[in-house]
Amino acid sequence: MTAPTSAVSSIASERIVGPIILLGAPGAGKGTQAKLIAKTFAIPQISTGDLLRDNVARGTELGKAAKAIMEKGDLVPDKLVLDMVSGRLREADCQRGFILDGFPRTVVQAEWLDSFLEKERKDKGVTCEAAYAPPVVIQLKVDYNQLLQRIAGRRSCPACGRIYNVYLQPPKVEGKCDVDGATLVQRADDREDVVAERLKAYEAQTLPLVDYYSSGGRLVTVDGDQPVEEVMRQAFSAIEHVNRV
Ligand code: AMP
Repeated sequence: MTAPTSAVSSIASERIVGPIILLGAPGAGKGTQAKLIAKTFAIPQISTGDLLRDNVARGTELGKAAKAIMEKGDLVPDKLVLDMVSGRLREADCQRGFILDGFPRTVVQAEWLDSFLEKERKDKGVTCEAAYAPPVVIQLKVDYNQLLQRIAGRRSCPACGRIYNVYLQPPKVEGKCDVDGATLVQRADDREDVVAERLKAYEAQTLPLVDYYSSGGRLVTVDGDQPVEEVMRQAFSAIEHVNRV
């Protein structure tokens, strides 16, 4: 998939893009859009879910503490998540901006992020001001039944991370990644019983972020039921045009 010409033409490789947040329920397409944005704007995709799953797979202390909570579909405590995120955001590849997928997930996390960014702007001075500017927030809104179908059909490649959907975007060969032929896997927390818990957690804890960010004029809502290319076009337009206040 290629980016729209108008977006590509305005992207300079050295341009400071700043922080971008993708907000949406599980299955709304955050991972897919984050990968497209990351590639086009040459900034890192920071998915807290991926970082936590990686810690679980490597059996780190953080992974051991998070595993059971993630398996139930609950949110991992802030103490663990915020340390992990601040470490990641201070890495060198974030100096032109970054795209957050799955973070913040609560108003407390959003407030923490605003103070973190403000502190980085002060500490790092004028060279990093734009990289740690107030974020542009893109909300992907998707119908509840669509979400269920997307999550039930979601498979990913353990080698390259590419995401498929057995109903909507199947691989060319059943069960195998188009890019590297690896056997596709289903996330443990994409099972039906856990999905209901994750959607509940989203409604109760993450949806209030829509008010938090819209009052600052930083939120753009995109209809995530549209084809991937159209969602991408509108997301790119938001990145180009929203004022960071
Ligand atoms: P995701 O891949 O974003 O759907 O995240 C998978 C799971 O990781 C979630 O159901 C939570 O258990 C945990 N998780 C991911 N991001 C966060 C976060 N920002 N705060 C707390 N828990 C998180």
